[in-house]
Amino acid sequence: MEPLEASRHATPNDPLRESPTYLRLSLAAAMTLGFAPGLFYRDARLSCINLLLTYASGCAARCAYCGLSGERPDGAGGQSFIRVTWPTHSLDDITQAIAARRDRVKRICISMLTNRRCARDTETVCRRLRQRFDIPVSLLVSPTVIDRDDLLAFKKAGADKVGVAIDLATPELFDRYRGAGVGGPHHWDAYWRCLGQAIDIFGRGFAGAHFMVGLGETEADMCAAMARVREMGGNTHLFSFFPEPASALADHPQPPMEQYRRVQLARYLIDAGRTRAERFAYDEAGRIASYGLPGDVIQAVVASGEPFRTSGCTGYDGTVACNRPYANSRPGPDIRNYPFKPDRNDIRRIRRQMR
Ligand code: SF4
Repeated sequence: MEPLEASRHATPNDPLRESPTYLRLSLAAAMTLGFAPGLFYRDARLSCINLLLTYASGCAARCAYCGLSGERPDGAGGQSFIRVTWPTHSLDDITQAIAARRDRVKRICISMLTNRRCARDTETVCRRLRQRFDIPVSLLVSPTVIDRDDLLAFKKAGADKVGVAIDLATPELFDRYRGAGVGGPHHWDAYWRCLGQAIDIFGRGFAGAHFMVGLGETEADMCAAMARVREMGGNTHLFSFFPEPASALADHPQPPMEQYRRVQLARYLIDAGRTRAERFAYDEAGRIASYGLPGDVIQAVVASGEPFRTSGCTGYDGTVACNRPYANSRPGPDIRNYPFKPDRNDIRRIRRQMR
């Protein structure tokens, strides 16, 4: 890897630096691979390299909360995505950097955006990485630009897991923030259909959905969506909404911490098969009032800290590799998704936050 190349960040949407030759990396992945300086708060370690395809024409979608949206009021689509900048590097350099830190990398994830070139380029990048490394590869797919044949081709190229970022818990909210409400191309039904096809092709437990808490859904809505995924054979990776600067929702508040903590606990219980969402009880505002389990069981689960760790794809060792340090909260004591096991002080804080 040339030092100059490693330190030069591309301008977003640079026509000379497009996928599949070039990719963007999350800042955390760039730090992990030595492309960017810095240490993680509390010495968190990332073991998944999150990559994002990149095109001069950008993303054709207009999701109201996304930093990559072509519809950003400042016309600066592409500057930030899930809270941080994504520097661009060549696939060759990324491959060399992974080889140099092979012991630290347990998974690689390739994220699409909504661009017709994504399907073929995802396949190409996945195949090249899998030919070089025995590291599992996840794909975060855009159902609007792929079909069942593409999913089959991705599996053949060596991917073992698929994520579908449904993000919104109800069809009305999905439409408002990703579909007709913003003049965007995405459809609720297409996302769920793609998730079903991915579970069918990759197997139960090898495909799942991303959901974002805090965009107007009730806790009951979110629990119903997560239960639907679980019934289909998938699992949920949970995010707390964080306003992207200059996105249409830049002024939208984050969800209250207590709401996020309750939903994290619900996700854990649902995905771990500890209870079923039909047993949950809600108050008149749709907030979780009971998980349908004895209090001492709930206390023990909270004390384990597990529900509050980042939910993400695992490595071969079965532990979460995609722990996305500080992807939806600033580094500091009020961590939303813990990228490591919460310690005793963290658990005390979590209990206070849950009230
Ligand atoms: S959890 Fe992480 S590795 Fe899995 S699909 Fe989502 S971003 Fe990719």
